[in-house]
Amino acid sequence: MSTGTSSRATTASSSSTRASPVHWPQLLSGLADRGYGLDDVAALVLTHGHADHVGFAERLRETTSVPVFVHEADVGLAQGTEDVSVGDALVNLWRPAVLALLFELGRNGGLSIPPVEEVQTFADGDVLDLPGSPEMIHVPGHSAGSCALFLPDRDVLLCGDALATLDLTTGRERGPQIMSLFNADGARARASLDRLAGLGEVTLLPGHGRPWRGEMDEAVRLARRQ
Ligand SMILES: [Zn+2]
Repeated sequence: MSTGTSSRATTASSSSTRASPVHWPQLLSGLADRGYGLDDVAALVLTHGHADHVGFAERLRETTSVPVFVHEADVGLAQGTEDVSVGDALVNLWRPAVLALLFELGRNGGLSIPPVEEVQTFADGDVLDLPGSPEMIHVPGHSAGSCALFLPDRDVLLCGDALATLDLTTGRERGPQIMSLFNADGARARASLDRLAGLGEVTLLPGHGRPWRGEMDEAVRLARRQ
């Protein structure tokens, strides 16, 4: 495994002064519902470095000292030293669903996410020594370091934003698809679908939209119809 550590050249206190994302209580209640607590969390693995996925990562890292993993190509996004590509969001600003999404993002503190002061990196093909032994599949395009986590012992694929089941431009669920917004390189995202075909029948857990169950070959076929 080719992991590494990257720290920002800022003091840890700089993040403490920022607002923490509002989803922190959902983490606590989600753990409690399953009989767990923060002490049971082994790590946080980011599928990519976008702010709406980084969320409370820094708060969790500060509180529990668990490692935060991100692909080496998205370290800059996770640490706030690189700007996200928003071009396709701006040209879709006239859409009510996009305006509502950005409003919700702002209201939830999504425009001032604390950067992750220290991250550990991984590379394509790494199997992280964590519960579930996630296999990291590099699927660049949505961002340069976008990855999917495959948990082979339970046929679960956490695909981040490499695939979505919700169309953010309309607010409608419509099955596996390439993300409709915030892609750094749409053509690359489409090409990366090849990496996900052939995984067999999975429960697909996307970053946006409901879970989807089926053959990944079918998910890729549906996404390519766009
Ligand atoms: Zn994203």
